[in-house]
Amino acid sequence: KGARLRLPPWLKTEIPIGKNFNKLKNTLRDLNLHTVCEEARCPNIGECWGGGEYNTATATIMLMGDTCTRGCRFCSVKTARRPPPLDPNEPYNTAKAIAAWGLDYVVLTSVDRDDISDGGAEHFAKTVSNLKERDSRILVECLTPDFRGDLAAVEKIALSGLDVYAHNVETVRELQRFVRDPRANIDQSLSVLRHAKKVDEYVTPEKFAHWEKVGNEMGFVYTASGPLVRSSYKAGEFFLKNLLK
Ligand code: SF4
Ligand code: SF4
Repeated sequence: KGARLRLPPWLKTEIPIGKNFNKLKNTLRDLNLHTVCEEARCPNIGECWGGGEYNTATATIMLMGDTCTRGCRFCSVKTARRPPPLDPNEPYNTAKAIAAWGLDYVVLTSVDRDDISDGGAEHFAKTVSNLKERDSRILVECLTPDFRGDLAAVEKIALSGLDVYAHNVETVRELQRFVRDPRANIDQSLSVLRHAKKVDEYVTPEKFAHWEKVGNEMGFVYTASGPLVRSSYKAGEFFLKNLLK
């Protein structure tokens, strides 16, 4: 019988130590926050959290708890059909912690929460807006789930004030059924990315006309919807025309 292969030296990593590492770890515990770095047992944690040569600590914050509703084969994150409910304080606490670290760039990601109606998109978006309110200078990347192809959920995050929308397709089409959870697939992932990109665009006159129609159908006396409209747009004309009739 062959002996177990010893890990070659280039695959071994240092035990994580250092000031930055401990600071990050302690704040995370105090505020009940999770990181992919720890949950996925990432071997780069010493380097990323330690700050490295440029003293720039990087951590990927994992929102919505430490338990995923999916079970991808390549991932070490815990899995459950019904993970504990979302922590309503998480958007606030996460923003507070990140702002205190003084980072230039942060990645927010999450487990997949197929047990929640919007997949947690609102919660995710709230975290971004809380963070930007505290520190408008920080660049925020959101590495999101596929929300089972729910494009309204994608839109919520894309419009939250983030700087980068990211989503992993994880593998090529031929290998997806071997490694990804059956609820994920490359076409669904591509539709998420396509939609996120589409949101960042100039709104067309057709779109404005659509929202005008929606407003009127909701029962508003007058809906001002157009590229240059402000809240007091033609207010006098509107008043004379519609309210003095
Ligand atoms: Fe690993 Fe990414 Fe965390 Fe670095 S930031 S430790 S690469 S999960
Ligand atoms: Fe891991 Fe993401 Fe798959 Fe959940 S969906 S098991 S967090 S890779």
